[in-house]
Amino acid sequence: MALLVMKFGGSSVSDAAAMSRVARRVVAVREAGDQVAVVVSAMGDTTDELLDLAAQVAPGVPPEREMDMLLSAGERMSMALLAMAVQQLGVPARSFTGWMAGMRTDTAHGSARLLDVQPARVRRALDEGSVAIVAGFQGISTDDDVTTLGRGGSDTTAVALAAALDADVCEIYTDVDGLYTADPRIVPSARRVTRLTIEETLEMAAHGAKILHLRAVEYARRFNVPLHVRSSFSDQEGTRILTGRPLTEDTMEEPIISGIAHDRSLGKVTAVGIPDRPGAAAAVVGAVARAGVSVDMIVQNVSTSDAATSDISFTIPEADGRTTVAAVRALQDEMGFADVLYTSHVGKLSLIGAGMRSNPSVASRLFAALADAGVNIEMISTSEIRISVICDQVDLEDAVRAVHTAFELDADEDAVVYGGTGR
Ligand code: ADP
Ligand code: ASP
Ligand code: MG
Repeated sequence: MALLVMKFGGSSVSDAAAMSRVARRVVAVREAGDQVAVVVSAMGDTTDELLDLAAQVAPGVPPEREMDMLLSAGERMSMALLAMAVQQLGVPARSFTGWMAGMRTDTAHGSARLLDVQPARVRRALDEGSVAIVAGFQGISTDDDVTTLGRGGSDTTAVALAAALDADVCEIYTDVDGLYTADPRIVPSARRVTRLTIEETLEMAAHGAKILHLRAVEYARRFNVPLHVRSSFSDQEGTRILTGRPLTEDTMEEPIISGIAHDRSLGKVTAVGIPDRPGAAAAVVGAVARAGVSVDMIVQNVSTSDAATSDISFTIPEADGRTTVAAVRALQDEMGFADVLYTSHVGKLSLIGAGMRSNPSVASRLFAALADAGVNIEMISTSEIRISVICDQVDLEDAVRAVHTAFELDADEDAVVYGGTGR
């Protein structure tokens, strides 16, 4: 008897009919003799709707503790309805909130991190023959307050639960047939990837492919949880994520490129004319980090205005633009630099593939494809298995399609997107 964790995202449980469809899928696995723990997200766009409501009641920055109470309600609705739908099919089911499932987190409301997972009640329900249904995206803090794990966090709940239960696999059910070579909403000719290493999956998630929550992938790597991404709307095989990296015949001949991720929600900050001396970059980037903003790509150049000074540019999440500019401006007089420039609407394209380690021509092919598409590259960064470029957000989707074609990733048939809004 195997133990499966099955996670269903918002578009898979968007209404009553969808709940019943998911229930049938869960029951089929249970009746085949396996134990099933389910993790559910809020129905459809419930989380966005709750955010909109809060913004109307409390414009500006709503109180974070109450925000988490509010947002966690979305997943509670789903878990109870799914438990009812499973029971309707004659199979016992019990739902559990994050705290009932033993999801202990730190106190960082809105982006809490899991500290300890003790799903004793879930285990008991499974041992009694029930389907256990856990609300995703939420936990209980060390202060005993309800917390949420950040947007997309139900994936992380599922992986953490799978690790704690020592499940055989964590299945992530969503609205596309698996992980594709690019977001199929942008590139209809994207190709489904049947297997992907955990390192490549991490790069995809870290650079904007929101199909998997980054922390879920990190958790899966740390605890060696086998992941299987697939659609709740079809029986397609999906994508298996290989934890560990067994060098088998299957993985030896990897394609050079496994996928293209994009991120359209970045901003770019430039501190202009910084006196060129040791410690300048540390001061600027340090101030931004202390403001709680994570810096992504950083470039330092000799200043265009004056050879004795330099310019430092870096990208940040667009939502943190104002905080970041304030943090850098606060240094301006003390450090004596000329100006702080901010550009919102910056996009990032990342080309990812373990096979590029041994293939030096990837970068030139990427730059040529962007040039042919008329896309101006503003910044570049690389890792062993990734090349990222920053461009204007309006060019981003064209850039993704052009690069997808240039690397011969296009499939003959268009990918199916079954639901959701892609928000
Ligand atoms: P869920 O509600 O099930 O958690 P998400 O909306 O979070 O689903 O993630 C699924 C979406 O991720 C897809 O609908 C697709 O638009 C998007 N996506 C982005 N990059 C990729 C990719 N490389 N492969 C597949 N889907 C991707
Ligand atoms: N409902 C939450 C969100 O929309 C968590 C999730 O779906 O994973 O972000
Ligand atoms: Mg998601």
